[in-house]
Amino acid sequence: MPEREILDLDVLFVGAGPASLAGAIHLKRLFNESGCEASVAVLEKASEVGAHSLSGAIFDPRSLIELFPDYKDRNIPFEAEVKEEHMYYLMKGKKLPFPYVPPSMRHHGCYVTSIGKFTRWLGDRAEEEGVDIFCGFSGTDFVYDGDEVIGVKTGDRGIDKDGERKPHFEPGADIHAKVVVLGEGTRGSLTKKLIQKFNLMENCNPQVWAIGVKELWQMPSGTVTPGYVAHTMGFPLGHDIFGGAFIYGMQNDILDLGLVVGLDYQNPGVDAQHELQRLKTHPWIRSLLADGEIIAYGAKSLPEGGWYSLPKLTVGGAMLIGDSAGFLNGQRLKGIHLAMKSGMLAAETISEAFAADDFSAASLASFTDKVNSSWLKNELWKVRNFHQGFDRGLLGGLINSGLGLFTGGRGWGIKDRLPSHHGHELMQKGTAEDRYADLEFDGKYLFDKVTDVYYSATAHEEDQIPHLHVHDMDICITKCTEEYGNPCEKFCPADVYEMVQDSDGKRLQINFSNCVHCKTCDIMDPYQIIDWVPPEGGDGPGWVNL
Ligand code: SF4
Repeated sequence: MPEREILDLDVLFVGAGPASLAGAIHLKRLFNESGCEASVAVLEKASEVGAHSLSGAIFDPRSLIELFPDYKDRNIPFEAEVKEEHMYYLMKGKKLPFPYVPPSMRHHGCYVTSIGKFTRWLGDRAEEEGVDIFCGFSGTDFVYDGDEVIGVKTGDRGIDKDGERKPHFEPGADIHAKVVVLGEGTRGSLTKKLIQKFNLMENCNPQVWAIGVKELWQMPSGTVTPGYVAHTMGFPLGHDIFGGAFIYGMQNDILDLGLVVGLDYQNPGVDAQHELQRLKTHPWIRSLLADGEIIAYGAKSLPEGGWYSLPKLTVGGAMLIGDSAGFLNGQRLKGIHLAMKSGMLAAETISEAFAADDFSAASLASFTDKVNSSWLKNELWKVRNFHQGFDRGLLGGLINSGLGLFTGGRGWGIKDRLPSHHGHELMQKGTAEDRYADLEFDGKYLFDKVTDVYYSATAHEEDQIPHLHVHDMDICITKCTEEYGNPCEKFCPADVYEMVQDSDGKRLQINFSNCVHCKTCDIMDPYQIIDWVPPEGGDGPGWVNL
């Protein structure tokens, strides 16, 4: 019977996103400069680097310039430098231009970017610099020595849906490392375990999340200006739901259309994928899509809480970077540059830890000092109360955000730190309101979820234990039905959760193979009984240019 292998490495980054890859590159260079021969590796659950990467995205090159000062000569696969930008307030049939684009939404010197393409490029650079990248392996748990993290366990392959070993069963490995850096992305499953075990959110504002859903459209030749940028507020979300739309022009006449929806709404009937479809009923948006064809779909949650929702960043042997920690500027709708910088500061901390041969909690804690004395803090500090203002609706949020410009980020608070709330706690019982009665999926412009999922190129081995663990199925058919009307059917953008009635009665069916790994269910379930754990390594979306 094959047994678990033990693999000894020095530094292991989990998740091959921009935070980990920038950190790994920077660390490898620091090791080279100091003559340290320690190994640096990256573990990625997707089948290839970039296949699970999704963002808007407008890319601020600040960290990239630090990492690659000659970046302009490196043929980076950006779509285009931002050429023109607009902000609109949408009403059902109208669009009103903002009189001016606020400073936070100006993107001079930034690039419209496919994070999938950029991450693949960064992965190639990491390998050139001597970083080992292992794709198709999920980190499922930690290896501990007392209270110190000393490694990560990867998942087994070849376990069937009943938990039995299949003929091609391969056990996972225990990867030992002196430092484990969690750059898993938003709501990482290992990150969640670490935060719970060490109570890393103690004294922090709760993290607040949003979900971004997006489609790429292939438009007729000559109709899309690469570098075109538009952001909207208002329709379809209205004033009570945080969020807005983005429209970016990519190369080869591809239009990037997306919607961010705050995961702190009250109506349990809100459905982000349906809101994106409603957005496309707006005459202006429809005109932009005329004669186009959808070519890709995806969704991802994003940590919106900002500075006050950052957890403690280190424990003995482990660190949190990027979206795993919550390094995202919600006001600018940007996080890639912050994620990269956090990875680079982690690299500097690790390099010092190797020089001192000390990987304890006390040694790694200097990461927090580095964050606090870097531009990363300066940027997040100025918007530290941004999202909290939207607790009072769109108008309240805009006023608070405007005041933040004049108060260095304080906003309207008498005390500096405005409170925030767990989004799932704001969902109101007995108030599920159908916002989609008029929505008709025509299969040309407006799609149901199953059709959208088809365009996400998502695939999971069907004969495995579902990776969505619902800890108490009885709640689904009793309390949740009565109190919230089963909001999992709505907040999941991939039709994974379905209440079905069969001869055995009502039950929750989990169509786990549709899952696009957005983590919304883990975040937004009102009873917090859904646990997203990694499926077999390599499974999930197959995104190329999202
Ligand atoms: Fe997202 Fe959860 Fe649905 Fe998967 S099951 S697509 S993680 S909401």
